[in-house]
Amino acid sequence: MQTIRFILFFLVLMATSQAQLPDIGGVMVFWEHYSGPAAFTATSADPFQLRVHVDRQGEAQPLTLRVELPNTGRNAWPANDVEVRNESGTALPVQRSGIEWEKLLISLPEGVSSIVVQAVEPPGGWPKPAPEKDRVIQDGASSARVRIANWPHGRTAALSLRFDDSHPTHLSRAIPILREYGFKGTFMVNPGPKESGSRQNYSFEMQHSEWETVMKKGDMELANHSAHHRGARSDAEMDVEIGSAAEAIWKLSPGRSKLMALNLGGGTRWETTRTLRSYLDRYHQFDASSGSLGMDDIYGGRVEAFRKALASHLERGLWCRIHYHYIGENLSSSEENFRTALDIAKEHQDKLWIAGMADIHKYQTERNASKLTVVKADERSLTFQLAVSTDASLYDQPLTLEVEPSPAWNAQQVILLDQQGTRIPSETGGALSFVIPPHASTFVVRASP
Ligand SMILES: [Zn+2]
Repeated sequence: MQTIRFILFFLVLMATSQAQLPDIGGVMVFWEHYSGPAAFTATSADPFQLRVHVDRQGEAQPLTLRVELPNTGRNAWPANDVEVRNESGTALPVQRSGIEWEKLLISLPEGVSSIVVQAVEPPGGWPKPAPEKDRVIQDGASSARVRIANWPHGRTAALSLRFDDSHPTHLSRAIPILREYGFKGTFMVNPGPKESGSRQNYSFEMQHSEWETVMKKGDMELANHSAHHRGARSDAEMDVEIGSAAEAIWKLSPGRSKLMALNLGGGTRWETTRTLRSYLDRYHQFDASSGSLGMDDIYGGRVEAFRKALASHLERGLWCRIHYHYIGENLSSSEENFRTALDIAKEHQDKLWIAGMADIHKYQTERNASKLTVVKADERSLTFQLAVSTDASLYDQPLTLEVEPSPAWNAQQVILLDQQGTRIPSETGGALSFVIPPHASTFVVRASP
């Protein structure tokens, strides 16, 4: 918590049963579907910790509190790390929507008169701001400059194309069209299996061998949309919904990194006593539930919305995410609109890294966890060290190193050698750059003799 800047605040606000609390560091607290004599007091003495005291005033019916945490701005809570405990420290079940983890529904057990809503520091500590200077060497002795590129292959922004709910049109339309363009898609699947009593078809299960063929080819990415897209009512069910879907996907990509995107899905309810972080960590998932532009035709003007979003992400050098459901006439997105969006992406292809969500997440995370330091340098060479603190078994996306040689060197003859003295080929086109593994290593850049 020490790395997150905050202003210590102490606010006590009272509310009657009808009123809604105006603000506690941006947190909102309400009664859920209740009007009656019961009242609560919410106080916040620490950032990311909220105490709610309940005075039932004789109320016998069950009470539920709705707590909404700010997820943007200065007061934003790390919603994936939030849990709720009673006064004796027991974790309480909390219900949330699959794509709004910052909105909590807390049923107050009988006899509980006080709860604490708090963010728990994750095992690896809070994410630290990554100073840009760690990823650059501007060396005086060699006059060379080395930098880990913002994005691979000299691109200025990234784009991911996501497809939700494992619909048959993903295999019949989306993948063949993506292949025409040479683009990679991320498919958020519900592997099932079909449950007795459920009327829903699990097309992923029924088309398993087709997906197997796609994954063998290796040009598309699978991601976790939970086993059944129906939420969970307990910790154990949540484990199964996330864990069994992850297992099904891992089976289709043996030997590859287990890291994948997770999105629990809109319109689903999840009840758990644990933080979302605990599930993300246990199953090597990263949260991909927000920040994406929905491309269903029903929203209207999607092609223009995408054009605008892409332009702004290119301008700021950021990761632009969009997502589709079903592709085809009278389905969520017409083939024409889908192709028009892909045409726009193609227009900007020289500046865009179009990749899977896990690829992009890995590159960003590795880059933020990297540090370059000078080992030794003279007029003709620079020896430097790369440190990368990500787990190499999960984070295996190669990094791009940009090199600006000394003006005194012949730029055509600059070479990069790895720890074993092996020459690393430079990328073709654009500035001088090299693709390197995302692991700790020492390199030498020098003018070729
Ligand atoms: Zn969905």
